[in-house]
Amino acid sequence: MLDDRHMPAYRFKSVCDITIEKLNIMGVDGLLLDIDNTLIYDETLRPLPGVKEWLDKMHGAGIKTAIVSNAIPLRVIPVAKKLGIKYYIYSAKKPKPDGLLKAAEKLGLPIDRLAMVGDQLRTDMLAANTAGAVAVFTDRARDEKLFKFYFKKARAGEKEFLEEFERRRREK
Ligand SMILES: [Mg+2]
Repeated sequence: MLDDRHMPAYRFKSVCDITIEKLNIMGVDGLLLDIDNTLIYDETLRPLPGVKEWLDKMHGAGIKTAIVSNAIPLRVIPVAKKLGIKYYIYSAKKPKPDGLLKAAEKLGLPIDRLAMVGDQLRTDMLAANTAGAVAVFTDRARDEKLFKFYFKKARAGEKEFLEEFERRRREK
C-alpha cells in the first residue's frame, strides 16, 4: 500500500506553470517554497529560467511567499535575497512540519491557505500533508549532482507514487 501522505495534490513541470488562476482553484493565498531543484539548480545559487519573473508576478498579485528549505543559511539567505523573498526558514528538517508552520506564522496565513511547493515526495510532500498545507509537486529541474546515491534511491522510490498520481489524475 502506498502511503498517501507522500502524495501530491497537484503536479506541475515547473513552478513557472503555477498561475494565479490555479492558486485560486487550490484555495491558496501563499506559497512555501523549496529551493533546490524547485527555484534553483541543485547545489548552485542559480535560479531556474523564468523563476525570478514568475515570483515578481506572484508578488505583484499579492501572493505571499516564504522559502522553507532543509539547506543551510549560507545557501538559503542569498537565494532569498536574489529572488526578493522576504521570509525564509533554513535547516527546516522537512519532512517535519515545524518549518512550514513557522513560515505560516511569519506570513500571517493559516496553513491550509498555503501550498508547499517542492520536488521531493519524502521531504516536501510529506511535510506539506503532515502540516496541513496543499502539497504541490514540481518535477526536478535536473538530476542531482551531489549525494547521487541518496537521490538515486529516493527518486526510484518516488516512481510508483507518481505513476499512481497520474493514474488517479486520468480517472478524474
Ligand atoms: Mg528540492
